[in-house]
This record gives sequence, C-alpha cells and structure tokens, in this order.
Amino acid sequence: MTSLFDLTGKTALVTGSSGGLGLAMARGLAEAGSSIVLNGRNEAKLAPLVDEFAKNSHSASHCAFDVCDEEAIVSAFNRFDETGQHIDILVNNAGIQFRRPMLELESADWRRVIETNLTSAFIIGREAAKRMVKRGSGGKIINIASLASEVARATIAPYGAAKGGMKLLTRSMAAEWAAHDIQANAIGPGYIDTEMNTALTSDSKFDAWVRGRTPSGRWGVPQDLVGTAIFLASPASNYVNGQIIYVDGGLLAVI
Ligand code: NDP
Repeated sequence: MTSLFDLTGKTALVTGSSGGLGLAMARGLAEAGSSIVLNGRNEAKLAPLVDEFAKNSHSASHCAFDVCDEEAIVSAFNRFDETGQHIDILVNNAGIQFRRPMLELESADWRRVIETNLTSAFIIGREAAKRMVKRGSGGKIINIASLASEVARATIAPYGAAKGGMKLLTRSMAAEWAAHDIQANAIGPGYIDTEMNTALTSDSKFDAWVRGRTPSGRWGVPQDLVGTAIFLASPASNYVNGQIIYVDGGLLAVI
C-alpha cells in the first residue's frame, strides 16, 4: 500500500526557501519524495542549495523571483508550463517582519509587509490553482500564517494584519477550490529560531519571555514544522481543508 505521507511524483514550489522555515520544509518535502522548486530573490543563494539537494539524491530546481512582482510570478508559471513542470504542492512561505510603532509607521512600509506576506500568497495561489483546476488532478496549498493570525503584539501591526488576512485567505481558497480537490490549509508557527527573529533571540529579556510563555519551554526550530508540512502536502490530509495548524509548543493554548 502507498504510504499516506508519500509525495513521490509530486512537485512542490516553496516560496522563500533560501533559508529559515522555507528551506527546512523544502528539505522535509524532498525527504518525503517530492521534487522541489526553491525560491527566493537571490539566485546566487539558491543555486548551491540545488546542488546540496542533488547530493542527497533529491530532485530540485530553483526559480528566483520576488513574490511582490506579479509579472515575474506569471512568467515563472508560464515557464513551468512550457517545461512541463506541474506544481502539485504550493507552500506560500516567503515573508518579512518590520517592527515599528503604528504612530511612526510609514504607509509604504505597511504596504510592503502586506504585499510580501499576504498579497503574494493570493497571486501565487491563484496562478498555481488555475493550473491545478485545469489539470483536474487536485493539489495542496500550504500558507504560512503565524501566532499573529490570532493575537496582536505592539509594533508589528502590518505583520499581524497580513497574517490575520492569511487565515481568511486560506479559508477562501478552501471555499472556492475544494470542489477541484484542492486542499488549502495553513501552518501557524510559534516563536521559531530563524534569521527573522535574530533581534528577539539575542534579547535576553525577550528570550526569557518566550521560554517562560511557551509551555514547551523552548524556542521552536525550523525542523519542528516539517511533519505538519508533510501531512498537509500529502494524501493523509485529503479531507482537511481551510484549517490552521499551530506549531507553537502550546503557546496559544495557554494564558
Ligand atoms: P527568514 O527571514 O529566515 O526567511 C525568509 C525567506 O523569505 C527567505 O528565504 C527570503 O529569501 C524569502 N523572502 C523574503 N522576501 C521575499 C520576497 N519578496 N520574494 C521572495 N522571497 C522572499 O524567515 P522565516 O523562515 O522565519 O519565516 C518564514 C515564514 O514563516 C514567514 O512567512 C514568516 O512570517 C513565518 N513565520 C515565522 C515565524 C518565526 O518565528 N520564525 C513565526 C511565524 C511565522 P531571500 O532573502 O533570499 O529573498
């Protein structure tokens, strides 16, 4: 019997996979059998990663584009079509943080965070889903949400607005595309030790707060997301749709 978690024969595009959570999830999906398309803005960071995947006998390619550049996104999908590359699994992971009290926040910075963290997921999701619908063989969309999809924190208003939007975008995708056997779900990571959080991990007061506030008593590591990503990319989740799974060491469950 084929394993419920087997991704052999599938291709996954993971946005923002030049490092951090995206790269960990890309490696995990590859371990489960999927071919991977790595993405980020910088081709020079992606090319050596493709070699690393190949050394581990995993199939990978890269496609550099800025997730805020709609023209580049559409061209990338057109190139996938031309080369017969079908995206079966999309992980909308690329994201940025920008910390500033709202009274001092410029609207350009608000827009940049919303574009990168939310609008990109709609545009890339739409391009992927168009093709999934046309092929008629279903697909998986995994949006990377956040604790900020549920609760606010001072100085990260655009991030929270984007991640709150990601939750309802995920449900909208499920509502519109479930009939085409597309499952759209989200992962809400807790505090994970990546480059995005360097300012927080190196702040001893914040570090102590995270350890004290998180029932697991530690920061997450990127590998912590891999099992959930494989589950949501695999046939094991074929009747799971529009959900957010929080991978947060229990943080949201307690006060
Ligand atoms: P990192 O800063 O470590 O990595 C971000 C990735 O996104 C990089 O690969 C970067 O690639 C890419 N990226 C950023 N902007 C763009 C863009 N405009 N176009 C294409 N790629 C882009 O962040 P994390 O790994 O920590 O975060 C990944 C996701 O997880 C984000 O959506 C974040 O909001 C979310 N998240 C993270 C949490 C955490 O604690 N770390 C908690 C909750 C959610 P490059 O610079 O090469 O372009």
